Amino acid sequence: MRHRIAVIGGGPAGLTFARVLHRHDHPVTVLERDPAPDARPPGGTLDLHEKLGQLALGKAGLLAEFQALSRPEGQAMRILDVDGSVLRDWQPRPDDRANPEIDRGQLRDLLLGPLDVRWGRGVTEVVPGTRDGALVRFEDGRQETFDLVVGADGAWSRVRPAVSPATPHYTGVTLVETSLDDVDTRHSDLARLIGDGSVAVYGVNRALVAQRNSGGHVKVYAQFRAPLDWHTNLDRHLGLNRRAGLDLADVEAVRSSLLALFDGWAAPVLDLLRHGTAFVQRPLYVLPVSHIWAHVPGVTLLGDAAHLMPPLGVGANLAMLEGAELAESVAAASGPGDLDEAVRTFEEQMWARAGRWAEITAAGLERLVSPDPAQALALFDEVQPS
Ligand SMILES: Cc1cc2nc3c(=O)[nH]c(=O)nc-3n(C[C@H](O)[C@H](O)[C@H](O)COP(=O)(O)OP(=O)(O)OC[C@H]3O[C@@H](n4cnc5c(N)ncnc54)[C@H](O)[C@@H]3O)c2cc1C
Repeated sequence: MRHRIAVIGGGPAGLTFARVLHRHDHPVTVLERDPAPDARPPGGTLDLHEKLGQLALGKAGLLAEFQALSRPEGQAMRILDVDGSVLRDWQPRPDDRANPEIDRGQLRDLLLGPLDVRWGRGVTEVVPGTRDGALVRFEDGRQETFDLVVGADGAWSRVRPAVSPATPHYTGVTLVETSLDDVDTRHSDLARLIGDGSVAVYGVNRALVAQRNSGGHVKVYAQFRAPLDWHTNLDRHLGLNRRAGLDLADVEAVRSSLLALFDGWAAPVLDLLRHGTAFVQRPLYVLPVSHIWAHVPGVTLLGDAAHLMPPLGVGANLAMLEGAELAESVAAASGPGDLDEAVRTFEEQMWARAGRWAEITAAGLERLVSPDPAQALALFDEVQPS
Protein backbone atom coordinates (compact mmCIF):
# COMPACT_ATOMS: atom_id res chain seq x y z
CA MET A 1 0.00 0.00 0.00
CA ARG A 2 1.25 3.47 -0.91
CA HIS A 3 0.74 5.75 2.12
CA ARG A 4 0.39 9.52 1.67
CA ILE A 5 3.58 10.74 3.34
CA ALA A 6 4.73 14.36 3.79
CA VAL A 7 7.99 15.53 5.30
CA ILE A 8 8.19 19.13 6.48
CA GLY A 9 11.72 20.53 6.04
CA GLY A 10 14.46 19.90 3.50
CA GLY A 11 17.45 19.77 5.87
CA PRO A 12 19.63 16.68 6.44
CA ALA A 13 16.78 14.83 8.23
CA GLY A 14 14.01 15.53 5.73
CA LEU A 15 16.09 15.02 2.59
CA THR A 16 17.60 11.73 3.82
CA PHE A 17 14.11 10.49 4.73
CA ALA A 18 12.78 11.42 1.29
CA ARG A 19 15.78 10.06 -0.56
CA VAL A 20 15.56 6.63 1.10
CA LEU A 21 11.81 6.46 0.42
CA HIS A 22 12.56 7.41 -3.18
CA ARG A 23 15.07 4.55 -3.37
CA HIS A 24 12.27 2.22 -2.25
CA ASP A 25 9.97 3.67 -4.97
CA HIS A 26 7.65 5.06 -2.30
CA PRO A 27 6.15 8.50 -3.08
CA VAL A 28 6.82 11.32 -0.62
CA THR A 29 5.94 15.02 -0.59
CA VAL A 30 8.81 17.25 0.60
CA LEU A 31 7.61 20.65 1.81
CA GLU A 32 10.31 23.27 2.42
CA ARG A 33 9.85 26.88 3.53
CA ASP A 34 12.90 28.26 1.68
CA PRO A 35 11.90 29.51 -1.76
CA ALA A 36 14.87 27.77 -3.45
CA PRO A 37 17.79 25.47 -2.54
CA ASP A 38 20.26 28.37 -2.57
CA ALA A 39 17.98 30.96 -0.93
CA ARG A 40 20.26 31.09 2.15
CA PRO A 41 23.98 30.41 2.62
CA PRO A 42 24.08 26.67 3.32
CA GLY A 43 26.32 26.91 6.44
CA GLY A 44 29.64 25.30 7.31
CA THR A 45 31.12 21.85 7.12
CA LEU A 46 29.76 18.62 8.68
CA ASP A 47 31.71 15.55 9.69
CA LEU A 48 29.69 12.43 8.91
CA HIS A 49 30.39 9.47 11.20
CA GLU A 50 30.81 5.96 9.85
CA LYS A 51 28.07 4.57 12.14
CA LEU A 52 25.63 7.49 11.82
CA GLY A 53 25.58 9.83 8.80
CA GLN A 54 27.56 7.51 6.53
CA LEU A 55 25.32 4.60 7.47
CA ALA A 56 22.34 6.73 6.42
CA LEU A 57 23.99 7.61 3.10
CA GLY A 58 24.57 3.90 2.53
CA LYS A 59 20.84 3.29 3.00
CA ALA A 60 20.22 6.02 0.41
CA GLY A 61 22.70 4.42 -2.02
CA LEU A 62 24.90 7.52 -1.89
CA LEU A 63 27.99 6.36 0.00
CA ALA A 64 30.30 6.17 -3.02
CA GLU A 65 29.33 9.67 -4.12
CA PHE A 66 29.88 10.94 -0.59
CA GLN A 67 33.33 9.35 -0.48
CA ALA A 68 34.25 11.08 -3.73
CA LEU A 69 33.12 14.49 -2.45
CA SER A 70 34.16 14.39 1.20
CA ARG A 71 37.43 15.47 2.77
CA PRO A 72 39.02 12.80 5.02
CA GLU A 73 41.96 15.16 5.60
CA GLY A 74 39.44 17.59 7.14
CA GLN A 75 39.40 15.38 10.24
CA ALA A 76 42.74 16.94 11.29
CA MET A 77 42.47 18.84 14.56
CA ARG A 78 44.92 21.20 16.22
CA ILE A 79 44.50 22.71 19.68
CA LEU A 80 46.43 25.82 20.65
CA ASP A 81 46.94 27.50 23.97
CA VAL A 82 45.81 31.13 24.16
CA ASP A 83 49.46 32.16 23.71
CA GLY A 84 49.49 30.34 20.36
CA SER A 85 51.60 27.34 21.40
CA VAL A 86 50.47 23.99 20.01
CA LEU A 87 48.98 21.67 22.67
CA ARG A 88 47.70 18.91 20.37
CA ASP A 89 48.14 18.28 16.65
CA TRP A 90 46.13 15.29 15.53
CA GLN A 91 46.37 14.10 11.89
CA PRO A 92 44.19 11.33 10.45
CA ARG A 93 45.87 8.36 8.77
CA PRO A 94 45.55 8.54 4.94
CA ASP A 95 43.01 5.68 4.96
CA ASP A 96 40.96 7.06 7.89
CA ARG A 97 37.31 7.36 6.81
CA ALA A 98 35.77 7.53 10.31
CA ASN A 99 34.48 11.14 10.14
CA PRO A 100 35.27 12.84 6.80
CA GLU A 101 34.02 16.40 6.32
CA ILE A 102 31.59 17.61 3.67
CA ASP A 103 30.24 21.09 3.00
CA ARG A 104 26.57 21.36 3.90
CA GLY A 105 25.78 22.67 0.42
CA GLN A 106 27.43 19.65 -1.20
CA LEU A 107 25.55 17.29 1.10
CA ARG A 108 22.25 19.02 0.34
CA ASP A 109 22.82 18.76 -3.43
CA LEU A 110 23.84 15.11 -3.08
CA LEU A 111 20.64 14.30 -1.18
CA LEU A 112 18.42 16.41 -3.43
CA GLY A 113 19.39 14.50 -6.59
CA PRO A 114 16.13 13.48 -8.28
CA LEU A 115 13.83 14.60 -5.42
CA ASP A 116 10.93 16.82 -6.35
CA VAL A 117 10.88 19.30 -3.44
CA ARG A 118 8.03 21.81 -3.14
CA TRP A 119 9.98 24.99 -2.33
CA GLY A 120 8.40 28.03 -0.70
CA ARG A 121 5.86 25.90 1.22
CA GLY A 122 6.16 27.16 4.80
CA VAL A 123 4.01 25.17 7.23
CA THR A 124 2.26 26.94 10.08
CA GLU A 125 0.56 24.06 11.84
CA VAL A 126 -0.23 20.35 11.75
CA VAL A 127 -3.53 19.05 13.11
CA PRO A 128 -3.51 15.28 13.73
CA GLY A 129 -6.57 13.03 13.76
CA THR A 130 -8.87 14.72 11.23
CA ARG A 131 -11.28 12.47 9.29
CA ASP A 132 -8.90 12.29 6.32
CA GLY A 133 -5.59 12.07 8.22
CA ALA A 134 -3.14 14.66 9.55
CA LEU A 135 -3.90 18.15 8.25
CA VAL A 136 -1.05 20.46 7.22
CA ARG A 137 -1.72 24.19 7.12
CA PHE A 138 0.54 26.43 5.02
CA GLU A 139 1.60 30.06 5.33
CA ASP A 140 -0.33 30.90 2.16
CA GLY A 141 -3.62 29.65 3.69
CA ARG A 142 -3.79 26.38 1.76
CA GLN A 143 -4.08 23.02 3.50
CA GLU A 144 -3.60 19.35 2.65
CA THR A 145 -3.97 15.99 4.46
CA PHE A 146 -1.61 13.01 4.67
CA ASP A 147 -1.48 9.58 6.35
CA LEU A 148 1.80 10.55 8.01
CA VAL A 149 3.38 13.98 8.51
CA VAL A 150 7.06 13.92 9.49
CA GLY A 151 8.31 17.10 11.16
CA ALA A 152 11.93 17.58 10.07
CA ASP A 153 11.67 21.36 10.36
CA GLY A 154 14.50 22.00 12.78
CA ALA A 155 14.90 23.80 16.09
CA TRP A 156 11.81 25.99 15.83
CA SER A 157 9.58 23.25 14.43
CA ARG A 158 5.98 24.15 13.63
CA VAL A 159 5.10 20.44 13.63
CA ARG A 160 6.38 19.77 17.19
CA PRO A 161 3.37 21.35 18.97
CA ALA A 162 1.18 18.61 17.45
CA VAL A 163 2.96 16.05 19.64
CA SER A 164 4.74 17.90 22.44
CA PRO A 165 4.62 21.19 24.37
CA ALA A 166 8.46 21.29 24.69
CA THR A 167 10.30 24.37 23.42
CA PRO A 168 14.06 24.99 23.14
CA HIS A 169 15.84 26.84 25.93
CA TYR A 170 19.09 28.83 25.82
CA THR A 171 22.24 26.97 26.98
CA GLY A 172 24.05 30.10 28.18
CA VAL A 173 26.54 29.82 25.31
CA THR A 174 26.48 32.01 22.21
CA LEU A 175 28.44 31.57 18.97
CA VAL A 176 29.35 34.46 16.75
CA GLU A 177 30.23 33.11 13.32
CA THR A 178 32.43 34.74 10.72
CA SER A 179 34.17 33.54 7.54
CA LEU A 180 37.38 33.87 5.57
CA ASP A 181 37.52 33.39 1.80
CA ASP A 182 40.42 32.27 -0.41
CA VAL A 183 42.39 31.59 2.75
CA ASP A 184 45.30 29.91 0.94
CA THR A 185 46.00 32.92 -1.26
CA ARG A 186 44.75 35.82 0.85
CA HIS A 187 45.75 34.67 4.36
CA SER A 188 48.46 32.06 3.92
CA ASP A 189 49.63 32.31 7.57
CA LEU A 190 46.10 31.55 8.75
CA ALA A 191 45.84 28.73 6.20
CA ARG A 192 48.91 27.13 7.80
CA LEU A 193 47.52 27.71 11.30
CA ILE A 194 44.23 25.99 10.41
CA GLY A 195 45.83 23.21 8.38
CA ASP A 196 43.56 20.77 6.51
CA GLY A 197 40.93 20.56 9.23
CA SER A 198 40.20 22.61 12.35
CA VAL A 199 42.04 24.66 14.92
CA ALA A 200 40.60 25.36 18.37
CA VAL A 201 41.73 27.58 21.23
CA TYR A 202 40.06 27.29 24.65
CA GLY A 203 40.16 30.02 27.30
CA VAL A 204 38.14 30.81 30.41
CA ASN A 205 34.44 30.60 29.44
CA ARG A 206 35.31 31.29 25.82
CA ALA A 207 36.76 29.55 22.78
CA LEU A 208 37.68 30.23 19.16
CA VAL A 209 37.31 27.49 16.57
CA ALA A 210 38.16 27.73 12.86
CA GLN A 211 37.15 25.02 10.38
CA ARG A 212 38.29 24.65 6.80
CA ASN A 213 35.50 24.11 4.26
CA SER A 214 36.18 23.27 0.61
CA GLY A 215 37.46 25.88 -1.87
CA GLY A 216 39.64 27.77 0.64
CA HIS A 217 36.62 28.89 2.67
CA VAL A 218 36.95 28.93 6.47
CA LYS A 219 34.26 29.30 9.13
CA VAL A 220 35.30 30.84 12.44
CA TYR A 221 33.20 30.45 15.59
CA ALA A 222 33.77 32.71 18.60
CA GLN A 223 32.03 31.02 21.53
CA PHE A 224 31.39 32.46 24.97
CA ARG A 225 29.18 32.18 28.03
CA ALA A 226 26.85 35.14 28.32
CA PRO A 227 23.19 35.97 28.85
CA LEU A 228 21.03 36.12 25.74
CA ASP A 229 21.00 39.93 25.80
CA TRP A 230 24.82 40.16 26.15
CA HIS A 231 25.03 42.75 23.37
CA THR A 232 22.83 45.24 25.20
CA ASN A 233 25.47 45.92 27.86
CA LEU A 234 28.99 44.66 27.19
CA ASP A 235 30.27 46.03 30.48
CA ARG A 236 27.73 44.25 32.67
CA HIS A 237 27.44 41.01 30.69
CA LEU A 238 30.97 40.43 29.40
CA GLY A 239 33.11 42.59 31.66
CA LEU A 240 34.27 44.72 28.74
CA ASN A 241 34.93 48.36 29.38
CA ARG A 242 32.19 49.47 26.96
CA ARG A 243 28.98 50.97 28.17
CA ALA A 244 27.01 51.43 24.96
CA GLY A 245 24.98 48.54 23.53
CA LEU A 246 26.38 46.71 20.54
CA ASP A 247 24.60 46.90 17.17
CA LEU A 248 24.94 43.32 15.89
CA ALA A 249 24.54 44.58 12.31
CA ASP A 250 27.61 46.83 12.65
CA VAL A 251 30.43 44.56 11.44
CA GLU A 252 33.28 46.72 12.74
CA ALA A 253 31.65 47.21 16.15
CA VAL A 254 31.14 43.45 16.53
CA ARG A 255 34.72 42.78 15.42
CA SER A 256 36.12 45.29 17.91
CA SER A 257 33.98 43.87 20.76
CA LEU A 258 35.11 40.31 20.00
CA LEU A 259 38.75 41.44 19.85
CA ALA A 260 38.23 43.02 23.29
CA LEU A 261 36.61 39.81 24.58
CA PHE A 262 39.59 37.73 23.42
CA ASP A 263 42.14 40.39 24.39
CA GLY A 264 45.56 38.97 25.26
CA TRP A 265 45.25 35.91 23.00
CA ALA A 266 48.04 35.31 20.46
CA ALA A 267 48.04 37.68 17.46
CA PRO A 268 47.66 34.92 14.80
CA VAL A 269 44.60 33.60 16.65
CA LEU A 270 43.03 37.05 16.80
CA ASP A 271 43.71 37.43 13.06
CA LEU A 272 40.87 34.93 12.57
CA LEU A 273 38.56 37.69 13.84
CA ARG A 274 40.48 40.60 12.28
CA HIS A 275 40.04 39.17 8.78
CA GLY A 276 36.53 37.78 9.21
CA THR A 277 33.84 39.18 6.92
CA ALA A 278 30.26 39.41 8.24
CA PHE A 279 29.42 38.30 11.81
CA VAL A 280 26.32 36.24 12.57
CA GLN A 281 25.10 35.65 16.10
CA ARG A 282 23.94 32.09 16.95
CA PRO A 283 22.79 31.65 20.54
CA LEU A 284 22.81 27.90 21.28
CA TYR A 285 19.42 26.50 22.21
CA VAL A 286 18.57 22.92 23.20
CA LEU A 287 15.49 20.82 23.86
CA PRO A 288 15.33 19.05 27.23
CA VAL A 289 17.62 16.00 27.37
CA SER A 290 15.61 12.83 26.54
CA HIS A 291 12.69 14.72 25.03
CA ILE A 292 9.89 12.18 24.41
CA TRP A 293 6.14 12.44 23.87
CA ALA A 294 2.99 10.31 23.95
CA HIS A 295 2.72 8.80 20.47
CA VAL A 296 0.28 10.67 18.20
CA PRO A 297 -0.96 8.65 15.18
CA GLY A 298 -0.17 10.39 11.89
CA VAL A 299 2.60 12.73 13.11
CA THR A 300 6.22 12.27 14.17
CA LEU A 301 9.46 14.25 14.40
CA LEU A 302 13.05 13.76 13.24
CA GLY A 303 16.37 15.50 13.84
CA ASP A 304 16.57 18.89 15.57
CA ALA A 305 12.77 19.10 15.72
CA ALA A 306 12.85 16.05 18.02
CA HIS A 307 16.08 16.52 19.98
CA LEU A 308 17.91 19.82 19.44
CA MET A 309 21.30 19.51 21.18
CA PRO A 310 24.57 21.49 21.35
CA PRO A 311 26.57 21.43 18.09
CA LEU A 312 29.22 18.88 19.01
CA GLY A 313 29.28 17.04 15.72
CA VAL A 314 26.29 14.69 15.93
CA GLY A 315 23.07 16.62 15.24
CA ALA A 316 23.08 16.19 11.46
CA ASN A 317 24.40 12.65 11.79
CA LEU A 318 21.52 11.58 14.01
CA ALA A 319 19.03 13.47 11.85
CA MET A 320 20.18 11.59 8.75
CA LEU A 321 20.21 8.15 10.34
CA GLU A 322 16.75 8.70 11.79
CA GLY A 323 15.51 9.84 8.37
CA ALA A 324 16.90 6.72 6.72
CA GLU A 325 15.57 4.34 9.38
CA LEU A 326 12.08 5.82 9.42
CA ALA A 327 11.94 5.72 5.62
CA GLU A 328 12.87 2.02 5.55
CA SER A 329 10.19 1.23 8.14
CA VAL A 330 7.54 3.26 6.31
CA ALA A 331 8.41 1.62 2.98
CA ALA A 332 8.04 -1.83 4.57
CA ALA A 333 4.68 -1.07 6.25
CA SER A 334 1.68 -2.20 4.21
CA GLY A 335 -1.60 -1.44 6.06
CA PRO A 336 -2.53 1.69 8.08
CA GLY A 337 -2.01 -0.21 11.37
CA ASP A 338 1.43 -1.33 10.18
CA LEU A 339 2.37 2.26 9.40
CA ASP A 340 1.42 3.43 12.88
CA GLU A 341 3.26 0.51 14.49
CA ALA A 342 6.35 1.23 12.37
CA VAL A 343 6.35 4.87 13.56
CA ARG A 344 5.90 3.86 17.21
CA THR A 345 8.82 1.43 17.03
CA PHE A 346 10.96 4.03 15.27
CA GLU A 347 10.20 6.64 17.94
CA GLU A 348 11.28 4.32 20.78
CA GLN A 349 14.56 3.63 18.99
CA MET A 350 15.16 7.33 18.19
CA TRP A 351 14.42 8.45 21.77
CA ALA A 352 16.83 5.94 23.28
CA ARG A 353 19.74 6.83 20.97
CA ALA A 354 19.14 10.60 20.92
CA GLY A 355 18.77 10.68 24.72
CA ARG A 356 22.25 9.20 25.10
CA TRP A 357 23.74 11.74 22.69
CA ALA A 358 21.86 14.65 24.26
CA GLU A 359 23.51 13.82 27.60
CA ILE A 360 26.95 13.48 26.03
CA THR A 361 26.71 16.75 24.10
CA ALA A 362 25.26 18.73 27.02
CA ALA A 363 28.16 17.57 29.22
CA GLY A 364 30.57 18.27 26.34
CA LEU A 365 29.43 21.87 25.96
CA GLU A 366 29.94 22.42 29.70
CA ARG A 367 33.55 21.30 29.29
CA LEU A 368 34.35 23.05 26.00
CA VAL A 369 33.18 26.48 27.12
CA SER A 370 34.15 26.22 30.75
CA PRO A 371 35.80 28.21 33.56
CA ASP A 372 38.59 25.61 33.37
CA PRO A 373 40.10 25.37 29.85
CA ALA A 374 41.95 22.17 30.85
CA GLN A 375 38.52 20.47 30.67
CA ALA A 376 38.39 21.02 26.91
CA LEU A 377 41.80 19.46 26.41
CA ALA A 378 40.88 16.49 28.60
CA LEU A 379 37.70 15.98 26.56
CA PHE A 380 39.72 16.00 23.35
CA ASP A 381 42.08 13.36 24.77
CA GLU A 382 39.14 11.18 25.82
CA VAL A 383 37.42 11.15 22.42
CA GLN A 384 40.33 11.37 19.96
CA PRO A 385 41.64 8.04 18.65
CA SER A 386 45.36 7.69 19.40
C1 LIG B 1 27.54 25.98 14.16
C2 LIG B 1 26.98 24.59 14.03
C3 LIG B 1 27.83 23.55 13.65
C4 LIG B 1 27.32 22.24 13.55
N1 LIG B 1 28.17 21.25 13.17
C5 LIG B 1 27.70 19.97 13.08
C6 LIG B 1 28.56 18.89 12.68
O1 LIG B 1 29.75 19.07 12.40
N2 LIG B 1 28.03 17.64 12.60
C7 LIG B 1 26.71 17.40 12.89
O2 LIG B 1 26.29 16.23 12.82
N3 LIG B 1 25.88 18.40 13.26
C8 LIG B 1 26.33 19.67 13.36
N4 LIG B 1 25.48 20.67 13.73
C9 LIG B 1 24.07 20.36 14.01
C10 LIG B 1 23.29 20.27 12.71
O3 LIG B 1 23.41 21.49 12.00
C11 LIG B 1 21.81 20.00 12.96
O4 LIG B 1 21.66 19.02 13.95
C12 LIG B 1 21.15 19.53 11.66
O5 LIG B 1 21.18 20.55 10.68
C13 LIG B 1 19.73 19.09 11.92
O6 LIG B 1 19.11 18.74 10.71
P1 LIG B 1 17.53 18.84 10.54
O7 LIG B 1 17.27 18.39 9.14
O8 LIG B 1 16.87 18.16 11.67
O9 LIG B 1 17.20 20.39 10.72
P2 LIG B 1 17.67 21.66 9.87
O10 LIG B 1 19.03 21.45 9.32
O11 LIG B 1 17.45 22.84 10.75
O12 LIG B 1 16.67 21.72 8.65
C14 LIG B 1 15.32 22.11 8.86
C15 LIG B 1 14.73 22.49 7.50
O13 LIG B 1 13.34 22.77 7.70
C16 LIG B 1 13.00 23.99 7.05
N5 LIG B 1 11.87 24.57 7.79
C17 LIG B 1 11.91 25.16 9.01
N6 LIG B 1 10.67 25.55 9.38
C18 LIG B 1 9.84 25.19 8.37
C19 LIG B 1 8.42 25.33 8.18
N7 LIG B 1 7.65 25.90 9.10
N8 LIG B 1 7.88 24.85 7.03
C20 LIG B 1 8.66 24.23 6.09
N9 LIG B 1 10.01 24.10 6.22
C21 LIG B 1 10.58 24.56 7.35
C22 LIG B 1 14.26 24.83 7.13
O14 LIG B 1 14.28 25.84 6.15
C23 LIG B 1 15.34 23.76 6.92
O15 LIG B 1 15.61 23.56 5.55
C24 LIG B 1 25.96 21.99 13.84
C25 LIG B 1 25.12 23.05 14.21
C26 LIG B 1 25.61 24.33 14.31
C27 LIG B 1 24.69 25.46 14.75
